Amino acid sequence: MPAMIPSKSVPWQSSEWPRHLSEALRDPRELLTRLDLDPESVPYERDAAFEMRVPMPFLARMRPGDPNDPLLRQVLPLRVEREHFPGFVADPLEEAAVTVAPGLIQKYAGRALLIASPVCAVHCRYCFRRHFPYAEHRQDLSFPSLRHIETNPTIREVILSGGDPLMLKDSVLARLVGAIEAIPHVRWLRFHTRVPVVIPQRVTTELLDLLTQTRLTTSMVLHLNHPNELDDLLGTALTALHASGITLLNQSVLLRGVNDNCQALIQLSEALYQQHVLPYYLHMPDKVAGTHHFDVPEERARQLVRQMSDALPGYLVPRLAREVPGATAKEILNFL
Ligand code: SF4
Repeated sequence: MPAMIPSKSVPWQSSEWPRHLSEALRDPRELLTRLDLDPESVPYERDAAFEMRVPMPFLARMRPGDPNDPLLRQVLPLRVEREHFPGFVADPLEEAAVTVAPGLIQKYAGRALLIASPVCAVHCRYCFRRHFPYAEHRQDLSFPSLRHIETNPTIREVILSGGDPLMLKDSVLARLVGAIEAIPHVRWLRFHTRVPVVIPQRVTTELLDLLTQTRLTTSMVLHLNHPNELDDLLGTALTALHASGITLLNQSVLLRGVNDNCQALIQLSEALYQQHVLPYYLHMPDKVAGTHHFDVPEERARQLVRQMSDALPGYLVPRLAREVPGATAKEILNFL
C-alpha cells in the first residue's frame, strides 16, 4: 500500500484568523464566567500595561470549572503579579545590551533575531518580553534593521520573533521574507510563533504558499507548554505545515502549576511527535518581574528531565536550557 501523503490544504478561509484576533477575550471576569468559575473566588487583577488576551480557539481547550486549569493559568492575570520579588526584573536577559539595531537582537554567532511585530495573539503571563520596549523597536515596511544583516556576512539565519511574526498580514510578511531572501548570505529562516497554537486558522493556504515559495530553508519553532494545548484544529494546521516541508520544533517554558510534572511533559513530547513536531527546548523560566509565581527550582527541573529521559527516546527529550546574559550559547542543564 502506498504511504499516505498528508494534505497541504486547510479547511478554513483567510478571513477567519483576523476575526478570531478581534474576538479575543480581554476581560478576566468574562473569561472566568465562560469557564463556569466564580470571579469572586479567583484572585485575578486586570493589568492595563499587559492586558489579558485569549483567543476563542484557545479558550475552547480549557476545562470548565477548574481554576487550576494549566491553560487558564498561563493567561489569567493574577493579583500576585503585582508583588515585587528580589531578583525579578524587567529585562533579565539584558537584551538591551545585545540590540545591534532597532528591532534586531544578536546574542549568538551566525544568527540574528528580528522583532518583526510588537504584538501577540495571546498574552502569556510568564512572557520574558512582557516589559519589552516595543515602541523603541518599531519597524516600518522597509524593515531598516535588515541593513545590519546585509552588511554582516556571518549571519546565516534570520529568526523572526516579536511579539509574534505571524501577526503580520501576509502581504507584509511576503515583503519581509522577500527582503531577507534577497540577502545572499542568509540561508535559513526561522519563525518563533505561538499564533498557530492559539489560532490554528492562521495557517492558511496563502501562508503555506508564502512559506514554500522562498529559497530559504524554513523552520517554525512553536510554543506549547502543556499537552492540552493540542487539539484537532491544531493537528490539522501542523499536518499542513509538515506536508509543506517546514521543519517543526517546539519550545516550552517550565512553569510551576502548569507543566512542572513529568506526566504532562512526557505527554506533551509524545503528542507533539504524533503531530510531526520535535521537542527542542524546555526553558527555565526567566526571572521576569511579575512572574515569580511560575518559578521552578533548578533541582526540580533536572529531576523532571531525568524522568523524561527514563521514559522517552532521546529525540523526544527537550534540552533543558537557561539563558545567561552575555554568554555565547544557552546553558544546557540536562546532564550537568
Ligand atoms: S506569544 Fe510569546 S512573545 Fe507573545 S506573550 Fe506569549 S510568550 Fe510572550
